[in-house]
Amino acid sequence: VAVTASSLNGNALAGHGYIGAIDLGGTKILASIAAPDGTIVSRAKKMTRADRGAETVVERMTEAVREAAAEAGIDVRAIVAAGVGAPGPIDTANGVVKQAPNLGWDNFPLRDALSTRLGCPVSVGNDVSVAVLAEHAAGAGRGVRHLVGIWPGTGVGGGMIMDGKLYGGVGDLAGEVGHMTIKAGGPKCGCGGRGHLEALCSRTAIVREIAKMVKRGAKSEITKIAGGNILQATSGDLAKALLRGDKVVMKVLDRASKHLALGIASVANLLNPEMVVLGGGVIEALGDPFVERVTELVRKQPLRAATADLKIVKSQLGDDAGITGAALLARQIQL
Ligand SMILES: [Zn+2]
Repeated sequence: VAVTASSLNGNALAGHGYIGAIDLGGTKILASIAAPDGTIVSRAKKMTRADRGAETVVERMTEAVREAAAEAGIDVRAIVAAGVGAPGPIDTANGVVKQAPNLGWDNFPLRDALSTRLGCPVSVGNDVSVAVLAEHAAGAGRGVRHLVGIWPGTGVGGGMIMDGKLYGGVGDLAGEVGHMTIKAGGPKCGCGGRGHLEALCSRTAIVREIAKMVKRGAKSEITKIAGGNILQATSGDLAKALLRGDKVVMKVLDRASKHLALGIASVANLLNPEMVVLGGGVIEALGDPFVERVTELVRKQPLRAATADLKIVKSQLGDDAGITGAALLARQIQL
């Protein structure tokens, strides 16, 4: 994946000087350095440790960039700008993370905190929005004018490119497909709502449903694969159980794929995009067979005008989508 992504990035990420790119997640921080020719030349990874507070997280982000710079053989002062993809709604004009439950942040001024430490301008965007930006510039969505990205992982993030540009709406909050209601009165969502797409097809929701069935007496391999605690099962664990023909996991994933298909069909009917890109942990782990199944279910929806020719594809940049998008953000800063 790394080599492919780097070569794809070639043109989109080229510009003046070295840039830093950070993908900030609830559990881990990925940092990378992109060279003037647009190649991603190094990477570093650190645990987020959000429980230790925002200042610690910013310190660890800085440290990850320093490590990536050292790996690239450059001084951290050679970095001309940095970009960050961060979870939750972002005030992009001011680089403030408005609300990130996974980090325990409320109106945290990430851009200024990081800019002070790195000594260069910083731009902050929503993690999935920047991943979608990357897919559009250098991945599955190159040359596509209207595309929507849906990212089922711990939650379900989203973002959209309308008329060739990232569409943010009035408050830069558009694209939250995870909180569309798919099943009225359905399972509770992390946001407090019910039956949202995120509450039906995020890894968290899938794993919770499996745990519920096992508690009621269903037999599943997942207990062993996840080391005893089903709720700790990763997307990779789900893929493993599926390979072993686990009936419970199969059933729950089948339901999740139906709900995801309903979500995609709704998005298609509302926005009529040319393409839907699927990414995130669940998609990366389950791969093409899952995407093909979802596509099949979307095609079965009765209102066919906007879904019949809709391209539904897997993210091409994979785990690199986040850092690639963050690097693109950094390149957009006027130096
Ligand atoms: Zn929700």
